[in-house]
Amino acid sequence: MRFASAIQDGRSVAVGIEGDRAIPLTGVDELGVRTPSSLLRDPPLDRAAAMAVSALRLRPVVPNPRKVICVGLNYLAHVEETRRDLPVYPVLFTKFATTLAGAFDTIPCPAESASIDYEGELAVVIGERARRVPVERALDAVAGYAVANDVSMRDYQYKTNQWLQGKAWDASTPVGPELVTTDEVRDPGVLRLRTVVNGETVQDAATELLIFDVPTLVSLISEFATLEPGDLILTGTPGGVGFRREPQLLLGDGDVVSVEISGVGRIENRMVSEAPR
Ligand code: ZN
Repeated sequence: MRFASAIQDGRSVAVGIEGDRAIPLTGVDELGVRTPSSLLRDPPLDRAAAMAVSALRLRPVVPNPRKVICVGLNYLAHVEETRRDLPVYPVLFTKFATTLAGAFDTIPCPAESASIDYEGELAVVIGERARRVPVERALDAVAGYAVANDVSMRDYQYKTNQWLQGKAWDASTPVGPELVTTDEVRDPGVLRLRTVVNGETVQDAATELLIFDVPTLVSLISEFATLEPGDLILTGTPGGVGFRREPQLLLGDGDVVSVEISGVGRIENRMVSEAPR
């Protein structure tokens, strides 16, 4: 099934999606730590309150995750284009809940950055507490999947060896449109990801090319941190990022970026200049 976090008439709602209908979950205002897989398998749907999906403004699929963990350099083509060595352990960094944006929100282009880039990615939503989970059982901890764009300010990212300041700008990372549960996406290793900028395809890859696949990532992260329902893992971007193109393809005011993953969904965001305060 599919679930979303949204605003309806100024009110936060978590909904199940059936076709073009959105059905509120009784007593739940957003997906997250209080919506484990056990609840999503038998969701408390308030069918009498069903509405059109078009009446909703989507929030980040999990608006307030307790953790957002991202993986750098997880596709061979992207490692090669950055001229780095193949990692033997995933490069991990984090974002904040405030870094996230809705699937169709506008994304602010900070005036401070001259190097704004896209990164289409598969996002994993955790559904159960997991600590030191072996690879073979790691997918049991996953509630489902969503689409993300790890919008990156490259000039800030490369100020230091830590990437945080290039990856955690306010409202810069759309995640959505929906949480697609694992009964619909059984194998996260056979999906196709495409990123399109202003109508031109700039990334096109299969998730089977992930260097560290989803079970491995969940297992490795759970060695050092307890994963909890609603935690997000952004699994890394394939080759084709704008910063490494010749010539570079950087984002600015008015550019439209979409990321689509087969069987999961599509997000689309317009970049809008933000004046410095
Ligand atoms: Zn990324």
